[in-house]
Amino acid sequence: VIEVLPPVRSATTLDRTSSQKTRIIIQKFGGSSVASAERMRACAEKAVAARRDGNHVVIVVSARGDTTDDLLGLASEVAENADKRELDQLLATGEQISIALMAMTIQSLGCPAISLTGQQCGVRTDNLHTRSRITAVDHGRLLSELLEGKIPVVAGFQGINHAGDVTTLGRGGSDTSAVALAAALKADECEIYTDVDGIYTADPRIVPNARLLDAISYDEMMEAASQGAKVMHLRSVELGKKQGVAIRVKHSQRHGLGTLICEPTRHAGHFGSMEQSRAVSTVALKTDLGRVTLEDLPNMPGLQREIFDRIARAGISVDDIIQHEVETGSVSTPGERCNIVFTLDKTDLTDVQPIIDEALKAIGRGRSRVDLGLVKVSAVGVGMQSQPGVAATMFRALADAGVTIHNITTSEIKISCILLETDGHRALRVVHDAFGLGNV
Ligand code: ADP
Ligand code: ASP
Ligand code: MG
Repeated sequence: VIEVLPPVRSATTLDRTSSQKTRIIIQKFGGSSVASAERMRACAEKAVAARRDGNHVVIVVSARGDTTDDLLGLASEVAENADKRELDQLLATGEQISIALMAMTIQSLGCPAISLTGQQCGVRTDNLHTRSRITAVDHGRLLSELLEGKIPVVAGFQGINHAGDVTTLGRGGSDTSAVALAAALKADECEIYTDVDGIYTADPRIVPNARLLDAISYDEMMEAASQGAKVMHLRSVELGKKQGVAIRVKHSQRHGLGTLICEPTRHAGHFGSMEQSRAVSTVALKTDLGRVTLEDLPNMPGLQREIFDRIARAGISVDDIIQHEVETGSVSTPGERCNIVFTLDKTDLTDVQPIIDEALKAIGRGRSRVDLGLVKVSAVGVGMQSQPGVAATMFRALADAGVTIHNITTSEIKISCILLETDGHRALRVVHDAFGLGNV
């Protein structure tokens, strides 16, 4: 029997200015959180409890368990380099299964719910299949479902382009769907439910003594996500910062406050006095790294544009770029030749290779080489800007562990070392301990 909750408002828009303002909460449940009927029910209970507390609730779900990987496997059985439009058509089905099952689960708890695909709830994207970006959210349908007292259950990771074709946002993209809906609906909070208690000082599956954080700044979380902390999709944190969406990461099967991702200036209470002296807040490991080395390039104005403009137009994100000049023996023209090394996601290598070939042809000189089997360990913290010796601490820890460093890059709030894959986990643990981040 479906209990019909009274509509939250009888008006045609959500009146967010009245004194009895109804809170809007977005709850996103990741792949492992919806992998079985039992886990899905625990998630549904959280949503129904929030709804019964008088909130408007919108759910975003990912594909169940390993579904997305399995779908990619199916594609590789039929085509070596599958067409990206067709890949999106295929991958989007994973989330479509989850929304229908989740809506049924919520209904079975006596609460009205309705499943909506990205298209049905107006998520518009650009045209870059498999790595699309959200351009707008046309939230009319969502509002009307909320006004009828239902819990909309939205498929994460997907949208539609101008032609009405299904697009996907890149791996882990459901977090970004959730934050985009939170921004469009001006939600009070965006809750990201996953399979750990929140954001830790390091991936707790690799570093057993990692400590749960009460809060982390958007900047630190963005840096950690871009350096491999896959707990949050990088673009979701970026969007959260830009749109001022408070994001809370929690465990989907347990109780707990989780971790708030926010602006430290606005939530000073969460960043105790201890935090101010913290040089490093998290360490991260980026696996699946590809490194491209371009050698013997003629250094001239526009050289870098020839390479990176092309890569950017394909929508591929480059990680770190290092350029250095190469001795040519000619004293009159120092720095005539240079090498450029950059890293990127291993999965982007097949797409970047023909682009590099084309760029080298246009430049008229140079050769390229690709390396795999590398990882990157990074220490991240806004506090390192004002504290000396952070890099030295990291290098000492790696030296003591007998780890060879193959590249170093730094920004104001991170230090990264590229290492052999086989050293990755051990290096993460020693760097984590060197900064005293663990539980004692
Ligand atoms: P979901 O399927 O819910 O989106 P993900 O697998 O994408 O979940 O992200 C959760 C995982 O992120 C955790 O299981 C954990 O292994 C990993 N992780 C990496 N770095 C961290 C970190 N600093 N804090 C917490 N989890 C982390
Ligand atoms: N199902 C997609 C993936 O596995 C999106 C997500 O989980 O966020 O990458
Ligand atoms: Mg994820």
